[in-house]
Amino acid sequence: MSKSQSNWIDLRSDTVTRPSPAMRAAMQAADLGDDVYGDDPSVNRLQDYAADLFGYEAALFAPSGTQSNLLALLSHCGRGDEYIAGQEAHTYKYEGGGAAVLGSIQPQPLQNQADGTIALEDIAAAIKPDDFHFARSRLLALENTIGGKVLPMEYTRAATSLAHQRGLATHLDGARICNAIVKLGISPREAVRGFDSVSVCLSKGLGAPVGSVLCGDKSLIAQARRWRKMLGGGMRQAGGLAAAAQYALEHNVARLAEDHAHAERLAHGLRQIELLKVQTPQTNIVYADMPAAACAGLDGLLREHGILARVTPHMRMVTHLDVSAADIDKVLTVFQTFFNTWNAPTSEGAA
Ligand SMILES: *Cc1c(COP(=O)(O)O)cnc(C)c1O
Repeated sequence: MSKSQSNWIDLRSDTVTRPSPAMRAAMQAADLGDDVYGDDPSVNRLQDYAADLFGYEAALFAPSGTQSNLLALLSHCGRGDEYIAGQEAHTYKYEGGGAAVLGSIQPQPLQNQADGTIALEDIAAAIKPDDFHFARSRLLALENTIGGKVLPMEYTRAATSLAHQRGLATHLDGARICNAIVKLGISPREAVRGFDSVSVCLSKGLGAPVGSVLCGDKSLIAQARRWRKMLGGGMRQAGGLAAAAQYALEHNVARLAEDHAHAERLAHGLRQIELLKVQTPQTNIVYADMPAAACAGLDGLLREHGILARVTPHMRMVTHLDVSAADIDKVLTVFQTFFNTWNAPTSEGAA
């Protein structure tokens, strides 16, 4: 990793963080064993810690959030079963169709409302009766946060009890559940109440280099462990990674509030620019709409100033522990400089 590369202000995602010196020290000091034999003390410690933190019987360390979600889908559902998820859900839209490809599990995607929820009526209507014409509705999978939005707790309670009443299990893609926990000021256990399983990413805002944990009851986690091995996710001396994840859970949850404040600072500054339409962020993700013709030029100027972002007409910027308030101010200055002189291409002297 070159020095110049690590100096980029990187707003593409909260996955880009690098382990801090203290996290690296924890990784270095980790006790190791073969985790496929269940022998890695650092992995075991992390799994016990995560299970207790979120209030489940057991937990399993997985190499990625995609695999952790897939383990949950494969463990809850069998061939010919169906899971209900939002059209915008990561499990449906951004995981390569893994549940269908590898598990013969049919997704039943439903429209996400503007606040990220799926209407309860839509869920109720999509649950299929026991009839051999239909796939067996088996699981409701929600995501929190979704697109940076926090699901209201009354909603997750209502949705999970509806699912349970109708005989479905419930899974939460909690890749960013800690952002919701900090935003709402609630406990991890409260945030996941009603879900039979939760997948939590340690490598997003929490700052670990790699890994997710899946939490659930013992029999679900035992099945997930089988699937993890089959998928090639059985790692051997994985304790160094688990130690980073452990460090992340112990030290980097409360500080997510800083990322949320930085997102607000960014949104506030961007809102001063007339050509931008900026959504009010709830957590660490800021969306700004801008003219498509401005994107290439803005991207170029941002790069000139050492700022990496995915510049699109519906632009997403993500704050994280490697982005400071001063970085946000620098980003804002570049945006302001660019839009002060930018003219739409139809006018004379287009940039
Ligand atoms: C990032 C993400 C995942 C997947 O995590 P990876 O570690 O990138 O595979 C799953 N769900 C949501 C909501 C995410 O944001």
